Amino acid sequence: MSSATTSLSQAQVRELRARLLSERRRIQTEHETDVERERAIAPGEAGDVVDRAESDRERQELLSAAEDELARIGLIDEALSRLRAGIYGRCLADGEPIPFARLRVVPWACYCTEHQEQWEAEHCVTTTWSPAQVST
Ligand SMILES: [Zn+2]
Repeated sequence: MSSATTSLSQAQVRELRARLLSERRRIQTEHETDVERERAIAPGEAGDVVDRAESDRERQELLSAAEDELARIGLIDEALSRLRAGIYGRCLADGEPIPFARLRVVPWACYCTEHQEQWEAEHCVTTTWSPAQVST
């Protein structure tokens, strides 16, 4: 820790950019797969009611996963444009540096912990999704 107003070192920025780009590729692939799978399930196909309910449910799940993936790609693109603009790694609400440890887990984070919690409360969401490496 060099000073209280640490901004990210160039090496850290490089690491986070690499993470953002690889995560974007991974999600893009996942998204395409989900869209294809959703299309492959023909709606209203013959079969009993249970089958249809089952495939409807599966389509809904795929659709919401696909939406979620698009939202994540959007967040990653925003993070990448903040990187280009040189304002990456700072809270959008108060300009406080976002800790590197947090950015490593959520490289597209745009709020410090405090404001992220506030944002989640306002939007009635919790960020349940996170990069694959933090699964337990
Ligand atoms: Zn903040």
